[in-house]
Amino acid sequence: MINETSKKSKVNNNDLNKFYSDTLLLPKTNFPLRADAANRETLFQNRCTKDLYKWQMENNPKEMFILHDGPPYANGNLHIGHALNKILKDIVNRYKVLHGYKVNYIPGWDCHGLPIELKALTELKGVDKSSLTPLQIRDVAKKSALEALEIQRKEFISWGIMGDWENPYRTLDKEYEVKQLQVFHNMMKKGYIYRQNKPVYWSPSSRTALAEAELEYRDDHQSKSVYVKLPVINTKLDLPVVLDNLHILIWTTTPWTLPANQAVAVNPNIEYSIVCPNNDTSIAQNNYIIATKRLDALQKILGTELDVKFTFKGQQLIGTTYIHPINEKQCNIIDASHVTEESGTGLVHIAPGHGMEDYEACKKLNIPTFCPVDEFGIFTSEVGESTFEGKLVLTDGTLTVIEHLKKRNSLIKEEIFKHKYPYDWRTKKPIILRATPQWFANVEAIKQRAIKLLENVKMVPKSARHRLEQFTLSRNEWCISRQRYWGVPIPVFYESESDVPLLTDSSVKHVIEIFKKHGSDGWWKLDDQELLAPEYKNNGKIYRKGNDTMDVWFDSGVSWAFILEQTKKKDFKAIADLYLEGSDQHRGWFQSSLLTSVAVNDKVPYSTLITHGFVMDEQGQKMSKSLGNVISPSAVIKGGKNEPAYGVDVLRLWVASSEYANDVNIGKNIMSQVGENIRKYRNTARFMLGNLSNFKYSQLVEYEELDSIDKYMLHEIYHFGKNIKTFYDEYAFNKVVQALNNLTNVLLSAFYFDVVKDRLYADHITSQSRRNVLTVLYHILNIYTISLSPIAPHLAEEIYDNYKNIRHKEYESVFKLGWYDLNEKWSNQPLQREWETLKHLRNEVNQLLEAARKDKVIKSSLEANVKLYVNSSELLNLLQKHDLKSIFITSDAEISSQTIENYSDNNLTYVNEINLSDEICKIIVKRASLFKCPRCWNYNAQMESKLCKRCENVLSIN
Ligand SMILES: [Zn+2]
Repeated sequence: MINETSKKSKVNNNDLNKFYSDTLLLPKTNFPLRADAANRETLFQNRCTKDLYKWQMENNPKEMFILHDGPPYANGNLHIGHALNKILKDIVNRYKVLHGYKVNYIPGWDCHGLPIELKALTELKGVDKSSLTPLQIRDVAKKSALEALEIQRKEFISWGIMGDWENPYRTLDKEYEVKQLQVFHNMMKKGYIYRQNKPVYWSPSSRTALAEAELEYRDDHQSKSVYVKLPVINTKLDLPVVLDNLHILIWTTTPWTLPANQAVAVNPNIEYSIVCPNNDTSIAQNNYIIATKRLDALQKILGTELDVKFTFKGQQLIGTTYIHPINEKQCNIIDASHVTEESGTGLVHIAPGHGMEDYEACKKLNIPTFCPVDEFGIFTSEVGESTFEGKLVLTDGTLTVIEHLKKRNSLIKEEIFKHKYPYDWRTKKPIILRATPQWFANVEAIKQRAIKLLENVKMVPKSARHRLEQFTLSRNEWCISRQRYWGVPIPVFYESESDVPLLTDSSVKHVIEIFKKHGSDGWWKLDDQELLAPEYKNNGKIYRKGNDTMDVWFDSGVSWAFILEQTKKKDFKAIADLYLEGSDQHRGWFQSSLLTSVAVNDKVPYSTLITHGFVMDEQGQKMSKSLGNVISPSAVIKGGKNEPAYGVDVLRLWVASSEYANDVNIGKNIMSQVGENIRKYRNTARFMLGNLSNFKYSQLVEYEELDSIDKYMLHEIYHFGKNIKTFYDEYAFNKVVQALNNLTNVLLSAFYFDVVKDRLYADHITSQSRRNVLTVLYHILNIYTISLSPIAPHLAEEIYDNYKNIRHKEYESVFKLGWYDLNEKWSNQPLQREWETLKHLRNEVNQLLEAARKDKVIKSSLEANVKLYVNSSELLNLLQKHDLKSIFITSDAEISSQTIENYSDNNLTYVNEINLSDEICKIIVKRASLFKCPRCWNYNAQMESKLCKRCENVLSIN
């Protein structure tokens, strides 16, 4: 029976609780707690990408903002670095849209070039590739590029990147190629384009010249280095005795270049010696000329003491003749100030066909360039020694040359030499230097002016300026010709007999007209006669068109010209407002764009330049298949093996959180943390949406009528908003994220929301106090959502979708609202100081409450009362102004100026004495003495199971 009764009374209590809880105004919203991002984001994607792009172009009031997209290469899959790049750009663009600019963002693709050509050819099965015509090769390459482009395009769009995806710029488009030729034509007329037979980086594996930017240096390259003696024939050296068997000693790490030797260089200011190995037992002793400073090193290397016979300045050696190591011709010792005493013998083998400095030194002396190596890296018949012909210079050729030297008794020493050596960045094979007639852009003539003009460019981070300047200054020329078919042809003809190039104003103009009809295919579709301008058709000479195409860095480097045309921008400081790419572009696209634009327009193509780093794994290691640490953007979004599907906004929040100026990290732990952050944003928004569900804009309360804590929150939001704008303006997105996290966790979730819950849930629906809170929540929600929107557009759209009815029914997208206004009134420094004191006190009280909870004296803070003892009248006045129990979330809080009373009742008490605003404040926490109100759970009811006074009042109003 007893059991039955107690059960019954429990039921009654439950009924009562249910009755009262139904009278509470708990949050109601359709905004789901769980993001289910991978699915839900697609609901909002068009609204904030495709539709928005068109809308802002037509409706935004301000001028155009151009972020010019650096074109990714239309080959292969997208990786996490692409996500970093495109998302950073999108954050900037969205921020600009919110500020009323017409954002012009036309995505681009770099479509020509060797890797695409090679990939397309490899994929052609069962076809004799050598039988393909240039047009057939170009067709398969084009198809391959367009396929890759389409896959990439879809993926970029899926990342919520807003732009004109229907009309991208592609370097293979006819209109683009015409622009490119026009830039080339312009540079040619200004004398910036020339042809020279000089050594260039040459990739035997790709069979083409390469630009500096296409090289990759490896530290562990092994060469065979040789010490070679060359007999002296005539010398003006003034020696007291006649020396027989006098040789010069040279050292080289590229023995295969010895057939191309044209001279030996010495530095006229260095001291040289004639030395004699003291282990030399031959009848006629060998005498070697070496730099004196190399004596010790050479004794070790050659394994013998060297007796010094004479010393003299290098100047005296100039004009000395010696016998060529291979062809036995007579050659000269020449003067070259680049020769040092740091390595080798101090006498340098000069092969102008295989070395840039060698070429420069010989050019001054009219010594011809000689290069007996073909495009495969094989010795030609010109090499002058039949056993060399047909051999690959880097392998067999090197060995054969060394054999030859041994036979001739010229080889003094051979060893393996490990050093830094350039490789082809695509094929990963070593390159050589090889002189061929190539076309160049004269960087020397432009670079100083370019550096000067860069002074007015804003650089983010600042250190990028030095890097870009250094890379630009260290470049003297730009080899723009490539020996492949998949590209834009260099519009040059050669006179059949003399090989003299024809490249004139009218010859190029004529080709441009042909391109307007046929695109660059016209170069191969039409015959030489049709390609020639009329005045060259019957001038008694026969011409053939050239076979070279342009470096793809030239293709992409002139993209500013296309944008200029597209946007019809006339009066400009720079063509684009912003270029934003990875740090590899300091020697790539940033530079090629700068050089071509300065050459043609005498203008820098960008007014701001943002550089980002590379993406590494959590340990800071480079990502690679072999390490198994590769994280793809789609795995982050859609989930992978044991990995959740985070959705696009988490990927984007990761980008925004990163300090992108350096290399950035990604991994499981990092993504899990970022996912947790976005979950908190979602919960925070959901709390506000739930409380604002029936709120009307007309119910907003005037600032003056708000409670102190509400005004204080507006003060905080005011400064949050100001900071957020500054951070976005400085492109410091990680600071935006920090500010958002701080607001979410510290000010909202752990403070304001906690304190105002009682007012929101238990006060009457029409009460001023409740409307005050809702007014503040509305402002916070709006500022919060807009602040978040450039970074997490899908989440922001979803939040906005759930509160737009409050005011802006006509605006479908949050991005159409524009950036928020901050009311100057909200900034209130005295109030801020007051609340710093109150928050300090709140923290101290919380610590005592926490101690009581730990001792199981109370469960919730509402089971406690607080009593404060303060002597200072100033502090007393401050504290008395505020509803302290709501700030502490306790059932009561009293303030007394009396001395502390004796707490010796049965309740456990918690006491602490603190320093508050330089005054003593004593805090006592003890169990609440009244009864729990069944509606609001405050311990303020006079009798058990009865309502407290506030709740009684609320329920008495209809
Ligand atoms: Zn109550």
